[in-house]
Amino acid sequence: MRAHPELIACMSCDTVNRRPRLEPGEVAVCAACGGTLLRGHKSVQQLAALALTAAVLYLLANVTPMIGIDLSGRHSDTTLWGSVLAFTDHVTAPMALVVAMAIVVLPGLQIAILCWLSLFTLAGKRAPLFTDLMRAWQSLRPWCMVEVGMLGILVSYVKLKSLFHVDVGVGIWAMAGLAIVLTAVFPGDVQSLWSELEPSTDRDADPAAAAGPLPRSGPG
Ligand SMILES: [Zn+2]
Repeated sequence: MRAHPELIACMSCDTVNRRPRLEPGEVAVCAACGGTLLRGHKSVQQLAALALTAAVLYLLANVTPMIGIDLSGRHSDTTLWGSVLAFTDHVTAPMALVVAMAIVVLPGLQIAILCWLSLFTLAGKRAPLFTDLMRAWQSLRPWCMVEVGMLGILVSYVKLKSLFHVDVGVGIWAMAGLAIVLTAVFPGDVQSLWSELEPSTDRDADPAAAAGPLPRSGPG
């Protein structure tokens, strides 16, 4: 079977269109129905800025209190990591591992990889372990559940608020910001790092990159 990377099918009407090359922020629409075909990926500068923002928010979410309560004159608060450790004291101990991986460890790894790849690319260099880390980032993405963790924290906040005086800490705002920033990084944005490298450096590492920039003209 022959592949035609220069063509793209519309998800709305199945019309086959020629795949355009887009600049960051541009949107390609179907010639037949006007549906969205492709969106231009973020520039390396934008990706690096998002990666660094995510790193700062991740650190804040992990070291600053998220929620604090006052009970009988005593104040108690917890960080993101503290909420994970709370699971270890009960029969829910196995859950601690799942929660730690989903909202602390894997998002941290994902952010570190993103910073590593985007900053090296920004400097015009191929990051060490580029191919392996690109695949690792894709594999980690479905398992990072910062937004699910955020939802759990909000439910806890609403429940606790009806019983105690609840303080909202910097950590919860950092967590909310982190969920937004990570959602704003699309797989296509990270995949575009392939095309930012010199063809001679990425062609030997990944067959997908061997195609290089998409050709402007197709058959017919
Ligand atoms: Zn269409």
